[in-house]
Amino acid sequence: ADAAAPIPFDNTYARMPEAFFERVKPAAVAAPKLLRVNDALARQLRIDSAFLKSPEGVAVLSGNEIAPGSDPIAQAYAGHQFGSFVPQLGDGRAVLLGEVVDAAGKRFDIQLKGSGQTRFSRRGDGRAALGPVIREYIVSEAMAALGIPTTRSLAVLLTGEQVMRERVLPGGILTRVASSHLRVGTFQYFAARGDVENLRALADYAIARHYPDVRSAGDPYLAFFDVVVAALARLSARWMLIGFIHGVLNTDNTAIAGETIDYGPCAFIDAYRPDKVFSSIDQFGRYAFENQPAAVAWNLARFAEALLPLIADGGAKAIECANASIAAFDDHFNAAYLAGMRRKLGLVREVEGDLELASDLLARMAENGADFTLTFRALCGAAADAKGDAEVRGLFANPSAFDEWAGRWRQRLSLEEQPAEMRRTDMLSVNPMFIPRNHRIEAAIRDAEAGRFETFHELVEVLAHPFDDQPKFADYAKPPRPEEEVRQTFC
Ligand code: AMP
Ligand code: MG
Ligand code: MG
Repeated sequence: ADAAAPIPFDNTYARMPEAFFERVKPAAVAAPKLLRVNDALARQLRIDSAFLKSPEGVAVLSGNEIAPGSDPIAQAYAGHQFGSFVPQLGDGRAVLLGEVVDAAGKRFDIQLKGSGQTRFSRRGDGRAALGPVIREYIVSEAMAALGIPTTRSLAVLLTGEQVMRERVLPGGILTRVASSHLRVGTFQYFAARGDVENLRALADYAIARHYPDVRSAGDPYLAFFDVVVAALARLSARWMLIGFIHGVLNTDNTAIAGETIDYGPCAFIDAYRPDKVFSSIDQFGRYAFENQPAAVAWNLARFAEALLPLIADGGAKAIECANASIAAFDDHFNAAYLAGMRRKLGLVREVEGDLELASDLLARMAENGADFTLTFRALCGAAADAKGDAEVRGLFANPSAFDEWAGRWRQRLSLEEQPAEMRRTDMLSVNPMFIPRNHRIEAAIRDAEAGRFETFHELVEVLAHPFDDQPKFADYAKPPRPEEEVRQTFC
């Protein structure tokens, strides 16, 4: 990489065999207008924000110019979409510009999403509407601020062109940053073709980039599978602890680096309901809130199938090993989930029955339409002082449903040694005040489509500090009024 270049691109993936991608030039757009640059992320990536905001920078972020050192490609991948295998998907509307290495030595992909057609576009126009691009920017950055592994958003711009959806919409392009865009579906692409040589090359690349430690294991490919299982189990636990619904957990949207990727019809839960679905395309609730860990585990079973030719004898023994590894998903998930729930509830010690205590609270929340985020936030105050109960009770249709649970919780808290004030502070650091509420995102999109961008900017800024009270922005913490409620999200 040329350190003097405005974006010091390296292109390790573009140096892989031709079968891995198609070289493409992003399609030009009419009148690009920069909407937002993520200065903090640019700094972390050692990219000069001033360059990104200059006409030359905007030309790069819009795909109108190729930056020095960039070798743009569309990546090939396959995937199970809602359970059905599609042997070729690939970047149909995204282009990988290249990679950069941050100050800590970590490598990141820089990708344009919405940058025009590629060999993989099938019937699509290769473009993105501004609305979904804005949603991805808001939600991915909110997830990062919440401490959840995720792709990031470096910039968003308007193309100055229109895209045809159910109606005519303004076009947008997102600059996405990811630890990589290697998906379960990338492995499936080569496995489905019986191309073991490239499958091995891909696995070696992924291991070197993400999990170099597994190279010293007896069976490195099995060890690779094991660490991906652990990473994705922990990731799905994080979603369940924060009330996040991905919406489209297909194998092509399952990144082996363990990051949340591809924010389409995603949403955060307001009133807690385990079977909640927002996505307009998820008719049968396959990716409902409570089904997410099982959906990820299912994807990992598909990942194991793809890796089989590389594991052990590639036959019966490989299947046996892979099955044992998949079985570990539940252990990883349960451990991460229970540890997270203990922190949310202010429990430092590990006592038998803690999981049941948490499940009982969730069941009562579901029955009483209690807001997921606000309930846990209000519990922080109640943990320090029972006077705080009033605020939690008010979130339950039947407040005595909370009182019964609070009695059990206080009994459990009596086993703790941590001083109450410290407990409250700890709880405030894991139970956010602010999440990207759907009605706020919709308002930001609606305004942006009408050329007003302040709503978007303010929302992004509030969500950068989800654990701070920010009294000036207290309204952002509120659930939707009935007439504001968003029932469906679209991609
Ligand atoms: P997604 O639902 O975002 O995971 O996308 C699934 C597949 O559809 C990927 O191969 C995308 O590249 C492709 N795709 C989605 N939208 C478009 C579009 N507007 N034009 C071309 N391909 C698209
Ligand atoms: Mg996708
Ligand atoms: Mg998508």
